[in-house]
Amino acid sequence: MSNKPDVLLTRAVYPGTVETLEREFTLHKLWTAPDQDKMIADLAPTLRVIAGGYGCNATLLSKFPKLGLVANFGVGYDTIDVDYCAKHGIHATNSPDVLNDEVADTAMGLLLCTARKLVVGDRYVREGKWLKGAMPLTTNITGKTMGIVGLGRIGEAVASRAIAHKMNVVYHNRSKKDVPYKYYPSLVEMARDVDVLMVIIPGGAETAKLISREVLEALGPSGILINVARGTVVDEPAMVELLKSGKLGAAGLDVFEKEPEVPQGLIELTENVVLQPHVGSATHATRTAMGQLMIDNIKAFLAGQPLLTEVPETKGK
Ligand code: NDP
Repeated sequence: MSNKPDVLLTRAVYPGTVETLEREFTLHKLWTAPDQDKMIADLAPTLRVIAGGYGCNATLLSKFPKLGLVANFGVGYDTIDVDYCAKHGIHATNSPDVLNDEVADTAMGLLLCTARKLVVGDRYVREGKWLKGAMPLTTNITGKTMGIVGLGRIGEAVASRAIAHKMNVVYHNRSKKDVPYKYYPSLVEMARDVDVLMVIIPGGAETAKLISREVLEALGPSGILINVARGTVVDEPAMVELLKSGKLGAAGLDVFEKEPEVPQGLIELTENVVLQPHVGSATHATRTAMGQLMIDNIKAFLAGQPLLTEVPETKGK
């Protein structure tokens, strides 16, 4: 029997990270188990660490009385019941900062693809339409106003890129920050005033459908919605309906409510919608860095040292 500590990984993460986990720990890959209940039952009396964070609801967490750490792969930890963790003395960590630039690049890429119709242009060439005439003109982003919903770590990285694109930046958070951008306490008012609504807030119950029909209607027929946050933060059926009817101009989307399923209505909107398969942070370098941070948190926990990046909800609990 190995004397390396047990770690339960709930879903596949970056392959290089899985290899390192296998080297450093006795790794139990829940999603590969022929009998998941048996794997859980076998580990239940002694398991101290869950990695990956996927599916970590109270039902799963309550099976492990000795559990001390859920180490998430990713900055967004809406798949972990952190309230349960806080009540039961379980710590949770995430992987912030190391992915800010990558996600911000994806967000700006989606904006350029949507406003300047780069994906439509690619199809235009491939389908031989250019031979028959020039493609219809598109929309500039220079000089336009971007309203960032969630000016946090990633939001600030997006803002600096938007400024480099000579855009005007404003933002909505729950609280005002010491930044040179105009603050809007009202999301609807901000949506009314901006050309682009850039959404990069956490998911979870508190932000569910924050980008409501009212917000989307305020953004309006020439407005562009970019969502790199979570699918749950947008009223998806209302968004599809408004995009179809032209009451919302365009959308660039990396995340969806029931991903990997994407509403057929969005699939059919090929002219004013650009879709990505949740790839905000998906480069080799960034996924490696996210994995390393997750593993460093696990090692710190097992060594009884301070955690590197504990989430606020479980800190000091
Ligand atoms: P931060 O915690 O640094 O920033 C979140 C921001 O959202 C804060 O400025 C916060 O300000 C604001 N916010 C939180 N709740 C609300 C609310 N109810 N209403 C208005 N504003 C709110 O997080 P990160 O920037 O590191 O990450 C943000 C999210 O991006 C992640 O949680 C994740 O879901 C998503 N993400 C998506 C990726 C992808 O692949 N598409 C990759 C990585 C992250 P305040 O507290 O003042 O309200």
